[in-house]
Amino acid sequence: MARALSDSDARILVVERGDFVPQEDENWNPSAVWRQLRYQTPEQWIDDRGQSFRPYTHYNVGGNTKFWGSVLYRLRREDFQETQHFDGVSPAWPIDYETLAPYYERAERMYHVRGEVGEDPTEPPRGPFPYPPVPHSAGMSEIVLKLRAQGLHPSALPLGVLRPGEPDGCILCNTCNSFACRIHAKSEADICGIRPAMQRPNVTLWTNARAERLITDPAGGKVVAADIERDGRMMRVEAERFVVSCGAVNSAALLLRSASDRHPSGLANSSGLVGKRYMAHLATMMQGFHPFRPNLTVFQKTVAINDFYLRGPGTTYPLGQIQSQGRTHGVMAQIVVPWIPLWAYDAWVSRGVDWLVMSEDLPSEDNRVTVERDGRIRLEYRPNNVAPHRHLVKETARILRRLGFWLVVKHSHGNRNTTHQCGTLCFGTDPRASVLDPLCRAHDVENLFVVDASFFPSSAAVNPGLTIAAQALRVADHILSHKP
Ligand SMILES: Cc1cc2nc3c(=O)[nH]c(=O)nc-3n(C[C@H](O)[C@H](O)[C@H](O)COP(=O)(O)OP(=O)(O)OC[C@H]3O[C@@H](n4cnc5c(N)ncnc54)[C@H](O)[C@@H]3O)c2cc1C
Ligand code: SF4
Repeated sequence: MARALSDSDARILVVERGDFVPQEDENWNPSAVWRQLRYQTPEQWIDDRGQSFRPYTHYNVGGNTKFWGSVLYRLRREDFQETQHFDGVSPAWPIDYETLAPYYERAERMYHVRGEVGEDPTEPPRGPFPYPPVPHSAGMSEIVLKLRAQGLHPSALPLGVLRPGEPDGCILCNTCNSFACRIHAKSEADICGIRPAMQRPNVTLWTNARAERLITDPAGGKVVAADIERDGRMMRVEAERFVVSCGAVNSAALLLRSASDRHPSGLANSSGLVGKRYMAHLATMMQGFHPFRPNLTVFQKTVAINDFYLRGPGTTYPLGQIQSQGRTHGVMAQIVVPWIPLWAYDAWVSRGVDWLVMSEDLPSEDNRVTVERDGRIRLEYRPNNVAPHRHLVKETARILRRLGFWLVVKHSHGNRNTTHQCGTLCFGTDPRASVLDPLCRAHDVENLFVVDASFFPSSAAVNPGLTIAAQALRVADHILSHKP
């Protein structure tokens, strides 16, 4: 949003509760990232049983994109339509794929997305990627051939990395997903969005500045100011327009904290849906091991299998997606079962190939964000649509065994996996059944937009980032063409 609006004459203030992630050796240190949780927020949220937990989320310039794996997918065309799933209906979006397609194209250019057209059986209609795909390593090339021999259609994962192979570019290392890029070669919102926007004199960034609440005019139809705690001091900032982009959990929390006489159950909440319909994907990490076959691949995250995205096997329901993952580090594995020594884990993971299996969860009003009296966030989430995910995990295990792996193991963070949080302020045409309109403007508040993962009416089963960016560019275009 900030970058797209920065070319106009609007004066833009970006308010970020965190700071810049420092460029330091720890960026790529698995112990710092996984054991000391150096970059993760220390904040505690409460789950549906009232137990505290530390969410896997990051408050810093660029948000969670700073730590993402940069897999930048367009939603499939079918994701925009109503789809019957095992556990219920995945609702239609108020816009279709064709509406977002030109903005996907712009977002892919902005985020330097690399990929290959024509390999993926679920690919929506599209032109060429702006950059060629990241090549598979020798080991992954062999796996791709063997997957094809199984009758599957492996495709190149669309990835955002900057200038691989060039002197100042991405070195295709094994510390990408979950790590900040030490050399700023990852496509993420700090590098591709905020820093270029900051080159413009009309853009100001406040770091360590947390939006506490939004204040409306007496009639409640317009936001007039935001209360912001900056470096420990409270201040009030007035503006013509407000764009909330705090992430799906924190944007909902901000609107709930902004309750007033005119909006007693939270700002923009006449539908009663603010904070509800939280989704996060069902995700399981899997590894195939072979004791005598060391995995020599460094950058492993290049392969996708979408054969079961829309249906089956053995069922008419969608199952989801399989992606190769970044390499697991011994330290990461040791966190799951700490009594096994690190050397054993290192030996183990050096013979493993890592995969992520991801399925769609469905919007349910019982899955929701609320704010406790003391200000803490409560996240109630009971995963649904679990059977298709289990089916996909089983199918993936079968595929991995057919690839020759002796042992297949799996791990899931279950209902505490907040990485793909979305859906808490869904967009739609009916103000009774959605919080935002199709251009992400609050139905109830004329100058309030929310542009982040909150607007998703369904979670689909591909990574959400590119869709958030594409919609942000679309909303920015709308705002620029409707200046006050
Ligand atoms: C380890 C990891 C890997 C991932 N991999 C991928 C991937 O490969 N592909 C993909 O598409 N997605 C991936 N994701 C998910 C992706 O990062 C998120 O979907 C995306 O960042 C969501 O964007 P957002 O704008 O909704 O929220 P965020 O990125 O969370 O940004 C919200 C921003 O708002 C700030 N903020 C919050 N509250 C306030 C407040 N009250 N006042 C001021 N500022 C506030 C935060 O500090 C943050 O900067 C991954 C996520 C993680 C954690
Ligand atoms: S160098 Fe490339 S692979 Fe390594 S963290 Fe940076 S962007 Fe990711």
